[in-house]
Amino acid sequence: MKVKFLKSATKPAEYPHPYKPEVAIVGRSNAGKSSFINALVDQKIAKVSGTPGKTRLLNFFELMDKVYFVDCPGYGFAKGSLDEALSWRGMIEAYLSGRETLKGVIVIMDIRRDWDDEEVLLKDWLVRHKTPWVLILNKADKFSRSVTLQRKKVIEKETGGAPVFIVSSSKKTGFDDIKNVIFKEWS
Ligand code: GDP
Repeated sequence: MKVKFLKSATKPAEYPHPYKPEVAIVGRSNAGKSSFINALVDQKIAKVSGTPGKTRLLNFFELMDKVYFVDCPGYGFAKGSLDEALSWRGMIEAYLSGRETLKGVIVIMDIRRDWDDEEVLLKDWLVRHKTPWVLILNKADKFSRSVTLQRKKVIEKETGGAPVFIVSSSKKTGFDDIKNVIFKEWS
């Protein structure tokens, strides 16, 4: 896939000019966000298993000359510092509330994890800002097909109707539906 890195930013003044429809991706550290992005574009553009909590930047890419794609920093601060959690919240809320070209957000989760307080918070922001979103359950290769579908059913109860997709970023399976959402529905 054709990919161009545009820039990194922490605040609105640094975002690239909003020329194209934009899609953002956010997820708990270690959910496999970087692996998902790399599998999606079939190139190593996102860093896999960097030190969690150290990449505090919004990274803007352009895909297929068509859509801007924003890799948001991972969250999951239960054991981290409050400062870190607050700066993440400030950055993500500023982005979600102020980006007029944002068409949708991909939330990525490890299929083995349960819906938690931070997912509740994120979902509430998305709903409040009327931002379309989908949930990706990653690492489907960790379970059998039947367990995978059970997990999907349980987590679907939490999304308030937002679509839930299943992928394996390591096996590169399940990507057709999300590509359709990014390049057709949201672009
Ligand atoms: P990030 O912190 O969300 O960017 O997560 P990474 O992409 O760095 O992945 C975290 C860990 O999960 C790494 O050890 C990856 O190899 C592993 N991982 C990511 N996606 C998958 C997947 O689909 N299946 C399996 N089995 N492991 C995965």
